[in-house]
Amino acid sequence: MKIHLDLDSFFVSAHRIYDENLLNRPVVVVKRNDREIFENHKAEVLNLNEGAFTGDLIVSKKEYDKSYFLENGKVRGIVVTASYEARELGIKTGTTLKEALLIYPDLIVLLPDYRLYHTLSYKLKLFLKKRIPKIEQYSIDEFFGDLEGWVRDDEVYNFCVNLKKEIYEKFRLPVSIGIAKSKWIAKLATSFAKPNGVFLVRDINEFIKDIEIEKFPGIGKRIEKKLKQKGIYTLGDVVKNREYLFSWGKPGILLYNRVTGIDEEVEERHLRKSIGISRRFDPVYCRDEILRRISILCRYLSFLVMKKKVNPTFYYLKIRYKNGKKSKAHTRVERLFNELLLKEIMTLLFYRADSEDDAVISIGLSVGVFRKTTNLFDYKKDFKLQKLNEAIYKIRSKYGVSALLGADEISYHKR
Ligand SMILES: [Mg+2]
Repeated sequence: MKIHLDLDSFFVSAHRIYDENLLNRPVVVVKRNDREIFENHKAEVLNLNEGAFTGDLIVSKKEYDKSYFLENGKVRGIVVTASYEARELGIKTGTTLKEALLIYPDLIVLLPDYRLYHTLSYKLKLFLKKRIPKIEQYSIDEFFGDLEGWVRDDEVYNFCVNLKKEIYEKFRLPVSIGIAKSKWIAKLATSFAKPNGVFLVRDINEFIKDIEIEKFPGIGKRIEKKLKQKGIYTLGDVVKNREYLFSWGKPGILLYNRVTGIDEEVEERHLRKSIGISRRFDPVYCRDEILRRISILCRYLSFLVMKKKVNPTFYYLKIRYKNGKKSKAHTRVERLFNELLLKEIMTLLFYRADSEDDAVISIGLSVGVFRKTTNLFDYKKDFKLQKLNEAIYKIRSKYGVSALLGADEISYHKR
């Protein structure tokens, strides 16, 4: 059997470990836009143990006060995690803090502590590895486990009940576990186990047949719409429409196989396919200021690439405008990675992608397709730049990513 394990309202639960007053009450963790990364260079890259699950770049500010959520008399911020008590009131991930406080004025509002979350996540992973031979970390608070040949099928349920108990005793973290013959059905089962339960799927076909398609992991709004247009509303309908799904090619085949429980391996190592950073901010119209922000994001992204010791050959930039439109551009570049190159490429990509005459509200940068480069033409120059980059990386590792800034970042302060 395969299992899927998901911590219940993880960020809130993490704070509850240290503060009993937060138990059994509506609590939310709220995030504000990271203005500090662009304004006063207080952002910080957390130095986590190797092997910890790190998603995007993590930036935190050390001290906050209540005014942190206020700006010109307006309440700012978005709920990233809500406790189940808050969810019962209708407050969930994505609710604005303003709305949440209208629903429940006595709401307890916490600021994210990513260092705490990542540390707990890493410790839990080490613990799980001792209990289960094959563990795949899927996100900061989700894991897949393969129990085949380790725990007998008829003992898996009890094994999970005990595991859950152990996790609570050791970490004070509530968790839900889904069990099935295949990975993705186990993940689907977890949503039926929540909160704080264990759910076992005996017969996959019987289990899925009446479940609405939008409940299945990976079916987003776009696919949901496409399926519904074809009269496919339940997972049972998906099973009946094999040919239609296969006509989509790879993504359709993958989805069909996942729904019907055709198995995929639990992968112990998630190979990192890309590294990215993105930030939302208040609308900015001035293109020079946006380019300055891209330059700052490049500095952080460059640090992460150096830390992972990879050589990207694929560069991607994404823009979101105030009017709701999005634009993107990408390119392949077979060169040795360095920060200057990254800034050059991302600047060009911005010029190419910037299609709207409107204010920008978010910028995302990412790099991927990691491999050794074969471009001999620029090799000598790039090699020198990379050596320089390594020296800069060492300084930043020691004194912080803000220890050395690019000249192009500073213009804003001079104005
Ligand atoms: Mg969770």
